[in-house]
Amino acid sequence: MIATSSLLSSSRLTDLSHLTLSSTLAELPTHSFQVSPETAGHVVATQFEKQPVLPGVIIVENSRVVGAFSRRKFLEQVSQTYGVAVYLKRPIYVMLRMVAPEYLVLSSSCPIHTAAEIALKRPSSYAYEPIIVEFPEKTFRLLDIYILLLAQSHLLTLLYQLEQNRRQFAESLQKIGQTLSSSLDLSELPKRILEELDKVVSYERGAVLLQKGDHLEIVADCGFSEEVDIRNLQIPIRDRKDDLFQRLVEARRPIRIGDVTAEWSWQQIDGLPLDRSWLGVPLVAQDRVIGMISLTRRKAYSFSSSDESLVSAFASQAAVALENARLYDHIISFNDQLEQMVNQRTEELNNAYHILEKLNQTKSDFIQVSGHELRTPLTVIKGYAQLLNVNPLIREDPNTAEMLEGIVSGVDRLYQIVNSMLDVTKIDSDSLDAQIEKLSLADIILPICGKFETALKERRLALTTSDLSRLPSVRGDPDLLTKAFYALIVNAIKYTPDGGSIAIEGQVVSPTEESFQVEIVVKDTGIGIDPAQQKLIFEKFYQTGKLAFHSSGHTKFKGGGPGLGLAIARGIIQAHDGEIWVESAGYDEENCPGSSFFVRLPVSD
Ligand code: ADP
Repeated sequence: MIATSSLLSSSRLTDLSHLTLSSTLAELPTHSFQVSPETAGHVVATQFEKQPVLPGVIIVENSRVVGAFSRRKFLEQVSQTYGVAVYLKRPIYVMLRMVAPEYLVLSSSCPIHTAAEIALKRPSSYAYEPIIVEFPEKTFRLLDIYILLLAQSHLLTLLYQLEQNRRQFAESLQKIGQTLSSSLDLSELPKRILEELDKVVSYERGAVLLQKGDHLEIVADCGFSEEVDIRNLQIPIRDRKDDLFQRLVEARRPIRIGDVTAEWSWQQIDGLPLDRSWLGVPLVAQDRVIGMISLTRRKAYSFSSSDESLVSAFASQAAVALENARLYDHIISFNDQLEQMVNQRTEELNNAYHILEKLNQTKSDFIQVSGHELRTPLTVIKGYAQLLNVNPLIREDPNTAEMLEGIVSGVDRLYQIVNSMLDVTKIDSDSLDAQIEKLSLADIILPICGKFETALKERRLALTTSDLSRLPSVRGDPDLLTKAFYALIVNAIKYTPDGGSIAIEGQVVSPTEESFQVEIVVKDTGIGIDPAQQKLIFEKFYQTGKLAFHSSGHTKFKGGGPGLGLAIARGIIQAHDGEIWVESAGYDEENCPGSSFFVRLPVSD
């Protein structure tokens, strides 16, 4: 192809800036058929003479491309019939007529990119045939393929730019979104919103307004003179359809006012400068309009539809960020409230705990003092009663002897209770003073069982023990462990109705790979214990039965004691690094589900 220097310079000058993405051929510069024959023909002939290998030539007239010819067509249609000399004298439209079948006729409404595609798809041998544009009024124009391709590439550039812009905007929007959502400070965020918005669209004055009941509050502003105290302005939301905010709420899309002075519904707020253009964008969070972004420019009609879309896309990010910050604020203040409440409750509980601790201490002190005070006279009474009991004069009279027996056993029982009271105070003050030795639990448990032989017979209770002597030894204080197991066995007797049974079993358990424990279970067929009470019964003075049932007969059915037995048992077992607990299906005096008291003590090395 030959392009003269004039063609190049003209193409450079070709102004295609008016083209839009939907441009058609009609908007492209085209060339008239009216070309002087001499000049045009001369160019063609000269070029072919100079460069016989050329596949074709472009015809340039007065710095304008007026057409193109392929050598083949030129030779076939022109040279063979009339000869070059004849052709050279012909005006250009004659030449065009000669190569008529090879014209590419395109309608003026054909979009540029389609025309370029058609032109490029032509067989290469026709590449220089003229492109004729047909106008509706049936006139024709020559179109320069170079301009056509130039235009197409211009449109592609536009498209590319548009795409780039879109991507850039999406990226910056994403960044803005991240920046905004990372700021959870509700007092700072609206200001940040206006700062970030400035990167997206220019504005002279801007404000973020949030709805507070029946009015809008300005929570951030930019561009207003410091003399105007804009933050204290409360903008009422009018209960009318023409209220701008109401319109935004209704439409849920931006509203653009080209000239506020020509807008009848415009409400100019006293003290604020009058800017002509206004763009209002709703802030929608969780499907609710929570406020709006208001932007103004001094010049009328200065916000475009693309400004509108930009601010709108931005506003959705801003609304999400605002909502997040609001929720965060809510959670923080809720947390503060909760923390305050927890602190208050903790203080109350601490106070209550201290009072209870004091009371407990007072109770322990009282028990200790009264225990000691009671034990001295009791020892005296016990001593004298025992002396009298062996006195032959008194034993002569069976009535007096029986009364004395009563006194002795009553004093024994009292003595036992007082001792229990003192044991409890020792447990409370961690001063049990255990004399530890290696021992067999059979040696502890079997003698206790023996003590109850008479009572068991009277109450027709069957007490069995598994082969306890086969159990490994434990380390413990024999007196203390005797007290603990005594409490469990006497309770099993007390809370099992006549005719029932009690079984004492033992086995070795291994809660972890290295540790071994001896587990003793005292199982009865008694009245059982409510699950809600199963922990409480190990507290001192705690009893489940009604006080009225309490009796001093310590093996009588339901003959409750002072409520110290299990507290002492727990204290002793824990002092031996052991565990104690109860399992029972519940309390039921009719069906007697029974209870099983478990004790675990570490096996002696
Ligand atoms: P108490 O001197 O009243 O027997 P304990 O500390 O020994 O005091 O027991 C506390 C309470 O636990 C008893 O009042 C009784 O209600 C309940 N209890 C203890 N052992 C049994 C058991 N084997 N069966 C049913 N209830 C029991």
